[in-house]
Amino acid sequence: MGPAQETRAPEVTLDEIVALCKRRGFIFPSSEIYGGIGSTYDYGHYGVLLRNNVKGEWWRAIIGERDDIVALDSAILQHPRVWEASGHLEGFTDPLVDCRTCGLRFRADKLEDAQCGRKPSMHPGEFKECDLTDAREFNLMFETHVGPVKDTASTAYLRPETAQGIFINFKNVLQFARKKPPFGIAQIGKSFRNEITTGNFIFRTREFEQMEMEYFVPPAEAPKWYSYWMDERMRWYTDLGIRDDNLKLRAHGADELSHYSSATSDVEYLFPMGWSELEGIANRGDFDLKQHAKFSGEKLEYFDQEKGEAYVPHVIEPAAGVDRAMLAFMVDAYDTEEVEGRKRTLLRLHPRLAPVKAAVLPLVSKDGMPERAREIYQEVRARVPAEYDEGGSIGKRYRRQDEIGTPWGITVDGQTMEDGTVTLRDRDTLAQERVPAEELGDRLAAKLAEPWRSPKLG
Ligand code: ATP
Repeated sequence: MGPAQETRAPEVTLDEIVALCKRRGFIFPSSEIYGGIGSTYDYGHYGVLLRNNVKGEWWRAIIGERDDIVALDSAILQHPRVWEASGHLEGFTDPLVDCRTCGLRFRADKLEDAQCGRKPSMHPGEFKECDLTDAREFNLMFETHVGPVKDTASTAYLRPETAQGIFINFKNVLQFARKKPPFGIAQIGKSFRNEITTGNFIFRTREFEQMEMEYFVPPAEAPKWYSYWMDERMRWYTDLGIRDDNLKLRAHGADELSHYSSATSDVEYLFPMGWSELEGIANRGDFDLKQHAKFSGEKLEYFDQEKGEAYVPHVIEPAAGVDRAMLAFMVDAYDTEEVEGRKRTLLRLHPRLAPVKAAVLPLVSKDGMPERAREIYQEVRARVPAEYDEGGSIGKRYRRQDEIGTPWGITVDGQTMEDGTVTLRDRDTLAQERVPAEELGDRLAAKLAEPWRSPKLG
């Protein structure tokens, strides 16, 4: 589904997010020195830290806070039969249309997103409408070859989703994990899709990372768990600071359902380009396990000791994108305000997501302040991820920390040298208090553990 029309004006444009990401080293267009390669991005220092925190919070919710899910890390290259069994070889296609005038290609079902080629700039000179060919199906899987000989026997695919790696390991996991349904297998990893319509920064790229979990349940319990996981996944986003108003669940209509799904709902976020999918939650039934059992000849079922019978569990799948989640967190956190006549730009990120939690800054680079600040920095970083920043005006250093979303700033000044206290500055309220340096570690660790809500909610 393309982004729905939304009457609310976006608080931030995608261009502003892109500019901040570039300016502060979060994300760069890939292969930039060679002119770039479409829709592929490289993550710089703060981008890596933020991304790791998104993944860390997912692992925390899926593994750290429960006992019924285990982790997996399956290979990107899998046996080609996997994609036959899963239906991807046959059915993982998008309808592609070409414009005979401008030569551009579009997804027939997303012409409005692509703005088609109807823009005059795409048809230089006289304004013309795109002259579109009929749609033909285009498989989104990237094909590659394993081994030196390029024949059909060695054709392999870069996985277009991580889920199949979980299904093909169902038997392995069941043996060692000694779980019984309901139980889940989770993984985070790269997936690849040769998308026709890309764009919107890291929203839709050809190489991206997914956070997927397959939850295996007794068939009769599938509807209950489907609804449970919709609630849980919505809560994950709101607990991490996404505002309710910008988030909604949208159930797929019968015409939208994938070949494997009996029910799917998308968690949608109000991105600057409109409501768009952030995560999909699907009731996949027993489709995948049955298909792999059929194609591999292996039994993929659970033997219920109490009832003395075997059954194929049904599967509920929450499937999220790391990159899309990261974009949503940044969009929701982006803010500007006027402070003493100057514009301040900041990311009001949940402290647990913030790439850096505390910045230790000597007020000036003299009078023993840098040395004392470095000592304090070493103590603080032993407790929470921190950064030391010296040089340039204090105002400039704070602006930088605000833009990367650092929730707490610690300034070492003249008074520190006399009484051992520092200034602790809050990113959101700009309130400053004096705190004994030796209390900082405990204070910040406690603050980090507190529940948090977006200050934009007032
Ligand atoms: P869309 O309709 O936007 O193409 P999808 O329904 O095909 O997405 P799924 O197959 O359900 O996506 O994948 C689960 C999640 O993986 C998506 O909700 C999204 O967060 C992420 N994802 C899928 N494709 C991409 C992509 N090309 N770039 C970035 N993230 C993606």
